[in-house]
Amino acid sequence: MALDIVLLGPPGVGKGTQAERLEAWLGLPQVSSGDLFREAIAKGTRLGRKAEGYIDRGELVPDQVTIDMIAERIAKPDCAKGVILDGFPRTVEQARILDELLAKMGRRVDIVLDIEASEETLLERLTGRWLCRQCGRVYHRLSNPEQVRGICDECGGRLYQREDDRPKTQRRRLQVYQDRTVPLQAYYRRKGVLVDIDGEGDVESVWRQIKAAVEPLVAQKA
Ligand code: AMP
Repeated sequence: MALDIVLLGPPGVGKGTQAERLEAWLGLPQVSSGDLFREAIAKGTRLGRKAEGYIDRGELVPDQVTIDMIAERIAKPDCAKGVILDGFPRTVEQARILDELLAKMGRRVDIVLDIEASEETLLERLTGRWLCRQCGRVYHRLSNPEQVRGICDECGGRLYQREDDRPKTQRRRLQVYQDRTVPLQAYYRRKGVLVDIDGEGDVESVWRQIKAAVEPLVAQKA
């Protein structure tokens, strides 16, 4: 039986880091809409050109563009046993369509891990964030630094800071999260799949909460 997990939470809360851990633990692919857009931009594809301006301004890419991209990704064979969705859905419309897509495969969103933290914490995390240009792995100057400065531990790629992590864009992204994505909490709470995760602590403490929330489902699906 498939296991489909959604990671919800504002930019900078650590969704990507936790998604990587879930991927390693469960052997399910992490599907990050932000990573897919950044890859498309780096390759200069049509999708990348469509998305770039929105991302640079800290706005959401239009629903249809995002939904088409994710629909194509989750139809791939590696997603047949489930996915870890990181950064998607981000609007109620996206959530509705995701439900439809999964229903067609006899699946549903099994659990939504809603990781929340204060704005102060988020701004601090976004400022120290560095990413690998090659594999997308996320580092943090203070809490999760790379071993050799500027080089990815995993693949040796060069690390860079995201343009949209600049302070003005950060604020806009947090506002967009409040306006467009927070309504998803109610949407998923009604469905009985939302779990509140306290994102204030360090990576380990967030991971412990996530593991405790997901473990019963893993046992049930096995
Ligand atoms: P992220 O890496 O998840 O912070 O995403 C970076 C940027 O990609 C966001 O600020 C949006 O501009 C865009 N993006 C990522 N996921 C979505 C989504 N589900 N819907 C719309 N735009 C998205």
